[in-house]
Amino acid sequence: MIISILGMEDIQLDERKFVEVAIGLPIEKTFYYEIPSALGGRLSLGSRVLIPFRGRKVTGYAIAFPPDLAHYPKADGIKPILDILDENPAFDSQMLAFYRWISDYYLFPLGGVIRGALPPGINLESQRLLSITREGKILLELQELTQEELEILRCLADRGEMPSEKAAKRFPSWRIFSLKEAGLIHIEESLKHIHIKPKRERMVRYQEGGRGEERLSPREIEVLGFIRELGEISHKSLCAEFKGASRIVKKLKEKGLVSIGLRDVYRDPFSSLTPGGDVRPRLTPKQSKALEDINTAIDSLRFSPFLLYGITGSGKTEIYLRAIQKVVEMGREAVVLVPEISLTPQLIGRFLNRFGGRVAALHSGLSRGERYDEWRRIRDGKADIVVGARSAIFAPFQRLGMIIVDEEHETSYKQEETLRYNARDLAVVRAKLYDAVLILGSATPSLETYHNAASGKFHLLTLDERIDGKPLPAVEIVDMRTEKEKGIILSQEMRNALSENLAAGGQTLLFLNRRGFANFIQCPDCGFVFKCPNCSVSLTHHFRAKKLICHYCNYTIMAPDICPKCQGYEIRSFGIGTEGVEDEIRKVFPGAIVDRMDRDTTRRRRSHQRILKKLESGETNILVGTQMIAKGHDFPNVTLVGVICADFSLNLPDFRSSERTFQLLTQVAGRAGRGINPGKVIIQTFNPGHYSIQMARDQDFGKFYQEEARFRKELDYPPFSRLINLRIEGSNQRRSIKAAQEMGECGKRMLKARPDGRGIEILGPSPAPLVKLKGKYRYHMLIKGIRAIPLHRFVEELSRNMKKQWVGRGVNLTIDVDPISVM
Ligand code: ADP
Ligand code: ZN
Repeated sequence: MIISILGMEDIQLDERKFVEVAIGLPIEKTFYYEIPSALGGRLSLGSRVLIPFRGRKVTGYAIAFPPDLAHYPKADGIKPILDILDENPAFDSQMLAFYRWISDYYLFPLGGVIRGALPPGINLESQRLLSITREGKILLELQELTQEELEILRCLADRGEMPSEKAAKRFPSWRIFSLKEAGLIHIEESLKHIHIKPKRERMVRYQEGGRGEERLSPREIEVLGFIRELGEISHKSLCAEFKGASRIVKKLKEKGLVSIGLRDVYRDPFSSLTPGGDVRPRLTPKQSKALEDINTAIDSLRFSPFLLYGITGSGKTEIYLRAIQKVVEMGREAVVLVPEISLTPQLIGRFLNRFGGRVAALHSGLSRGERYDEWRRIRDGKADIVVGARSAIFAPFQRLGMIIVDEEHETSYKQEETLRYNARDLAVVRAKLYDAVLILGSATPSLETYHNAASGKFHLLTLDERIDGKPLPAVEIVDMRTEKEKGIILSQEMRNALSENLAAGGQTLLFLNRRGFANFIQCPDCGFVFKCPNCSVSLTHHFRAKKLICHYCNYTIMAPDICPKCQGYEIRSFGIGTEGVEDEIRKVFPGAIVDRMDRDTTRRRRSHQRILKKLESGETNILVGTQMIAKGHDFPNVTLVGVICADFSLNLPDFRSSERTFQLLTQVAGRAGRGINPGKVIIQTFNPGHYSIQMARDQDFGKFYQEEARFRKELDYPPFSRLINLRIEGSNQRRSIKAAQEMGECGKRMLKARPDGRGIEILGPSPAPLVKLKGKYRYHMLIKGIRAIPLHRFVEELSRNMKKQWVGRGVNLTIDVDPISVM
């Protein structure tokens, strides 16, 4: 055993003997490994390493370099790491502090946090490819090296490229490294399975001293002249410029007039966007006032959180752009989070037009290759602004000066699997760690955020008027209980408004928060309802596809004509979805051009953009859609917005259902009247008296907040408390129930024994609202706490106890910190 008397800070790179490694597997602990001296100088914090672990080789992350391991109980069994997987570390110490915070708060293993934070491509087994360089080839020919070195070089010369793992099996890795240091071999990172490699582009270059220039055709001379003028141009662009360029280039190359080479390029996720003009309006006095406060905060170089509460169309995005400009001019970097849904070309276009190539985008619409490239651009300092969905909070910036969270109330900031983080909350944490300015923007702030502003934790900025003083659209509520015909989709008011708007040449958005044709189908003779065998929900009828589909697990059967129970012929659909609305509209308005936007019509990449383009160009008269159409878009010719049924979200068994409903209705209503013509909004509902519908009509957030806060306070719900949901899932129902019961008993015992038990309350265990999902039985227990830290420590201990008891017994425990839905 090696005992060192050096302190941490005294350790020189090559004196590092041990490394602490977090593993990207569901394991709480971290592990120690020895660093072989040949690898020592190359290993830095944040490098990924290949390590032997329980008989396998797995990827880990270097998180610390302990000076000695005398205190470590298994110090004798320390194994060496096998390899270093990165030429550049994947994170630095500041980012590691962020990861550690996340691991601690969300009660999730550190290795899993890191794995989730890195782009998906790099988390697959990546490999390094070795190849021989030109110098290597020369030395190989001259035979001026040791036998072993020559053998390595010969092997690479024969094979072209070789994965480093393979090479490591045949040759000692320090030899390979020394060849690399000598510039004789080249090492490049790439990914094994999906082949995300830096993309290369063929370049055509003009070459002096070619022969036969006089014998070229006029066309060939033209192409050559073009290339000469530019010096070099990508083969692809050249072919786009000249028809038949490919043939001509071949000929020019034969004559030695041009050469062809490869160049690394970053895939451009914006290639489908055409650059537009950047309009830089003079700020309104209210915008200027808000920006002044933000600018002061930027100058302070200190953590400063703002809530920018501004109604839709009040000019929030313009403020983001100005603030970012200042941050970037000061040499710092900015992250802009937007909900996945509003990552429209419109919004990205505004950032590109203002900041050009310094913008990177990170979201799920990109291919893995594009995402990997964007991530590298950020890490390598080639971009200083990132616009992205929630995972962009992990953008590898080192001089982060600003984080903006647009539509901060959006639920899509919460990741609902594996690491259940909320990017909005992480934005607060990261901004604190980086001394950055934070702007949370919304027209309908979450109760949590508004509460923070009301209590002075966040600085409140308000924009309560639309730009140009355009009025908010008039909102009309239609009481569907008084419609004479039961089960109809369009009320008389809605029909009238639709035909008036069509006649006037205006466009309409029709909103319904459920896709499909009908939400269930039933046999009226025997009452049989088609249910999903895996989930406790009925199947949704998709008429066009003639299928019944489960919206949770995608279980699909063909729609039958006959009741499987009583053989009756009268099977009927009940309830509606967007597909049903589209159908109805086509029947009632046969002349109108109708389109639909929901998960079913946007499965393919860029289909989103296509539908929106059709609307923007004025081709579409009526667009039917789910919440996808509710947000972010700014279409001046939309003069009518209809809400088919405001009640779906209201009836969810969730304490946030009123908040959701208010936000959704306000957002949808905000889509109307963004242009010259005033807008109109019609909301159909069975609960016309409910305060979230009433206040959405009046667009009165303040009043809604008061009402909702009163209700939350009475029941001790967030923001007046913290929640953690513990869910037991298993395919065996009896065992799952047993585990849930034990969890409840254990929790109650622990509570009694704890001095800080006061302020913590256990609700349940009880069956989850969706008691069966994807074949798993689900029970949960909500834990409420007035203060976060004791609550988290309590749950940590409880889950440790549960895991001790139940690990490997067919039940799973999920911890959801700050759940946004307890379905
Ligand atoms: P929000 O983000 O609050 O919805 P935007 O920033 O998108 O609002 O502004 C709405 C529209 O008004 C946009 O088309 C924007 O270009 C325009 N706009 C913003 N600020 C101004 C201003 N000061 N003068 C004129 N037009 C503006
Ligand atoms: Zn299902």
